[in-house]
Amino acid sequence: SHGRHHHHDKDQSHQKSKKNQKSYAKIAEKLLVQRKGLPIYGAKEPLVGGIKSNSTVIVVGETGSGKTTQIPQFLLEAGFANESCGGIAVTQPRRVAAISIAKRVAEEVGTPLGGRVGYSVRFDDMSSEYTQIKYLTDGMLLREVLLDPMLKRYQVVVLDEAHERTLRTDILMGMLKQIQKRRADMIAKRRKDRRSGTGGNGAEHEKVTNLKIVVMSATLDAERFSKYFDNAPILYVAGRQHHVTVYNTLEPQPDYLDAANIVSTQVHLENPVDGGDVLVFLAGQDDIENMEKLIHETNSHLPENMAKMLPCPIFAALPTAQQAKVFQPAPPGFRKIVLATNIAETSVTIPGIRYVIDTGVHKVRDYDARVGVESLQVQPISKSSARQRTGRAGREAPGACYRLYMESSFQELDDDGIPEIKRCNLAMVVIQMKASGISDIMGFEYMDPPSKASLKNALLELYALAALDDHGHLTDLGRWMAEFPLEPSYSKVIYESQKQGCTKEAINIVSLLSVDSIFYIPNDKRDESMSAQKKFSHSDGDHLTYLNLLDAYIQANGDKDWCRDHFVNIRNMQHVLNVRKQLVGLCNRLNIDPNMSCGTSTDTVLKCFLAGFFHHCALLQPDNTYRTLNGSQTTYIHPGSSLFGKRPPAIFYDQLVFTNKLHARSVSAIDPSWIATAAPKLYGHFSKSLKN
Ligand code: ADP
Ligand code: MG
Repeated sequence: SHGRHHHHDKDQSHQKSKKNQKSYAKIAEKLLVQRKGLPIYGAKEPLVGGIKSNSTVIVVGETGSGKTTQIPQFLLEAGFANESCGGIAVTQPRRVAAISIAKRVAEEVGTPLGGRVGYSVRFDDMSSEYTQIKYLTDGMLLREVLLDPMLKRYQVVVLDEAHERTLRTDILMGMLKQIQKRRADMIAKRRKDRRSGTGGNGAEHEKVTNLKIVVMSATLDAERFSKYFDNAPILYVAGRQHHVTVYNTLEPQPDYLDAANIVSTQVHLENPVDGGDVLVFLAGQDDIENMEKLIHETNSHLPENMAKMLPCPIFAALPTAQQAKVFQPAPPGFRKIVLATNIAETSVTIPGIRYVIDTGVHKVRDYDARVGVESLQVQPISKSSARQRTGRAGREAPGACYRLYMESSFQELDDDGIPEIKRCNLAMVVIQMKASGISDIMGFEYMDPPSKASLKNALLELYALAALDDHGHLTDLGRWMAEFPLEPSYSKVIYESQKQGCTKEAINIVSLLSVDSIFYIPNDKRDESMSAQKKFSHSDGDHLTYLNLLDAYIQANGDKDWCRDHFVNIRNMQHVLNVRKQLVGLCNRLNIDPNMSCGTSTDTVLKCFLAGFFHHCALLQPDNTYRTLNGSQTTYIHPGSSLFGKRPPAIFYDQLVFTNKLHARSVSAIDPSWIATAAPKLYGHFSKSLKN
């Protein structure tokens, strides 16, 4: 496109870019002063030396010491990135962290984002062929292994936040170990060939270096990582932690949101407004948004001339544009109240925090391998999480941490969380492992092996989806599904939609399901919001209701007032539209027509979803509860569903959430006879019994 510029424009843009370069350099220069003050700066030489002389090292350092932002830059300076041999990859469990850290590091390096420093997360790629430090989610690196099995484009892979033990980081540890060995073997073989004069002249070979693996952890239990990587050396980075006074409640707090609001107001009123900000740890986005409202409500009762609280949310699905607010200082007359999920525990560091309020809960996935049911639950955190949360108050000065639970409750917490691999459905990683050439899933070297039952479930699910054949080999469909960046069930829906001619509807609904909730249901306006939602209600359930809502939203041009009047969560809708845009682009690239529509034939849409979600079906029981086909769990239609209070004979659901009982969320009604058609391999023999 540059070719179309006139000479005059070219000169101007050249001058402009020169000016830009200057301002980038200026910012970088200013940040260098801050960087030099980080504890890790003094450990630069031993760190780089350690990484140079070992193929794998474990780096342990307190949160905020500078591991994530500085170590990749040290490696860059030490020559670990160049055009012919590749660069540095740094994995993050969370997309928000990958994006915000890449932005920060690009500033520190003094180049525009997507240049020397970039990021790559699902549905958002800000990297280029010039990128030498790439922050990416662990899921994205797993995906890159499919296309580049030896990860030749990297000389160093840094697995950050390894202590979190996410499913994908755990799988990557095993894969990287294999890749490292294969690369070493390859280099050894070439050397031998060259000595013996066989194997060609070498020029036809791509350059390959040994793969360096750096595993970074914020907690001290690094011995296990070291053992797993053949006793790799552990390098410790000193932290700089100030004293934090911990307060526990004297009684249990049944309503932790209310308690958090009271405590943050108290902290706000009793301390000078420029004396530090507050960080509140909450379970999830819904908590965060409810708390946001409570704070606004409290603000309105404060005297006019008094400083106000400024709620700053940060969670996984927060649109990128809104994330910046968390990192900026509050305007005069305001104190930041950062409302975060466990993302702020160790992955991102927010400057200026002096007070932490810890509700003691987080939202976690849970998987019952016995019955094959995955659910989302709010659960108590571990002791080690509680300590990390507390530590966030003492990074810059002495601080205070208010735990909204009793000292005795703290003592009862588990020491550490359970690795994700032991508590989730493994279908998505198993299909990726298969696609990366790992045929023996059971024999893979896991740091903590998942249960046989859950591996078996994943293999069965993939088999039922026709992603695996009778011998457990990947089918063509399976290969396609592995490359499509969605959970296998959703990939299957998109695949099926081509056949049924409803790709437009499928993409729209999949995008809508990517957020926690599309509607706002404020506690004080429950009835009002429910009746507003009814306007979009479709008699067959939530999938089609969401579709109606999206149409209406687009017609209203996403108008703010319209969203408020209809209790539509505008933040989430923006996220939905972004996901949709990415899926449309992806389909275009794969030669799938994203505009193929089945018009008003809504049964077609539901059948298409059933092709991916037959293992999420439940049948009505005589006592009006539902029983899941897969696992025979008793479940109820979620109160937020458009089918709440109705009793269709069969439903399928997007997910199960456990609150006081097991609820099916995002539910649609189906004809029971469709189930056997959708999954002949699994439920074909049921077809008779299902009909009556
Ligand atoms: P670690 O990985 O050891 O937890 P980081 O490298 O993430 O540490 O952070 C080091 C320091 O960099 C933080 O203590 C903070 O001062 C600063 N920092 C990181 N990200 C940002 C940001 N987005 N805005 C301002 N400062 C930041
Ligand atoms: Mg870090």
